[in-house]
Amino acid sequence: MADSGTAREINRRIILNLIRTCQPVSRAELARRSGLQRSTVSSIVDELIQEKWVIEGALGDVPRGRKPTMLYLNGERAGVIGINIQPTRTNIVVSTLDLHFILTESIPTGKEPQQFLDFLANRVVEIVRAHSEITYEGIGVSVPGRIDLTTKKLVFAPNLSWMGVDIRTPLEKTTGLPVEIDNAANACALAELWSNERKEQVKNILAVTVSEGIGVGMVLNAQLVKGARGLAGEFGHFTMDPNGPLCNCGNNGCWETLASNTACLRFYAQSKAQHLPSKPLSTITYDDIIKLALQNDARAVEAVQKQAYYLGLGLSMLVVGFDPEVILIVGPITRVWSLVDPIVTKTIETRVRTGAKPKIIPTDPDTQPRLVGTVAMVLAKHFGAPQLF
Ligand SMILES: [Zn+2]
Repeated sequence: MADSGTAREINRRIILNLIRTCQPVSRAELARRSGLQRSTVSSIVDELIQEKWVIEGALGDVPRGRKPTMLYLNGERAGVIGINIQPTRTNIVVSTLDLHFILTESIPTGKEPQQFLDFLANRVVEIVRAHSEITYEGIGVSVPGRIDLTTKKLVFAPNLSWMGVDIRTPLEKTTGLPVEIDNAANACALAELWSNERKEQVKNILAVTVSEGIGVGMVLNAQLVKGARGLAGEFGHFTMDPNGPLCNCGNNGCWETLASNTACLRFYAQSKAQHLPSKPLSTITYDDIIKLALQNDARAVEAVQKQAYYLGLGLSMLVVGFDPEVILIVGPITRVWSLVDPIVTKTIETRVRTGAKPKIIPTDPDTQPRLVGTVAMVLAKHFGAPQLF
């Protein structure tokens, strides 16, 4: 049961989130949208202004009557450090509350976790010192693996091979800032809920990250799904072909051995089509294949189309299983979406007979959904529903 303090805390978060998503917004509009009493809204808004979460701006334009003072989120109130760890590179950003990245940098991800985490934590300390005018809310970290809900350690990250590593403790100890950490696909699903760009009330979102591996983040009925231990969403390691290639997880024929960027590189290497570029075949990267595909290189196009087919097969499994409204695709494959889209669409149309028809949305790599998700992880405690259980 919620006591009056909890109820007020929930109302405060509802108001703060409404200001964030509807700004500029008047107190009257907040009362209308939230269904709360005008007096409750006013008292919460006063508190938020006092704590500098919210600022008052210009007078709003209304057809008649007294013009209301409009409210805005104070984007400058605090900063969040976002860290996206991927197997080869790690990106660090400093973000304002309104998702403006005021600093971005990229460092190579180290092979030895303790040494790398030491380096990373010290780099964050340097960044915080260099931007001491900012009050930091915390650090959000996205990882290509799953975090055990009890121990908070990395438990499943076959493409990073940092088994059982505690990322949170050394970062918190060295920086003195609270650290939130989650899987990259969960971060992307959270980013979609948070950024609200599509302005539709979508409650069932799947985010599929396609990179060295494949991860799925699931928001079902507006809740991030984590499973009993935090391992939910590992569809990348569902067996799609029992006789397929060996996966980094030790299994054969996992979905990601057929539809990840690594799979595409293998398709390219195995192709009989002519290899045109001056680079030796063994040094071709996924970025090279994307560039070549954009230039209509037959071998690259064939490899990407094969990847698209298997991507579509796995997406069909997600569609029949979850009936989502939206599936977001995250990763460099979206740069050649005009090549991928017809194949994915046809595969889903052929395989899915349940009538479920989600929108498949390729995300723009430049919007950095993983990093937006890390910021949302840190801010969710002020804007999202409180954890009651
Ligand atoms: Zn696997």
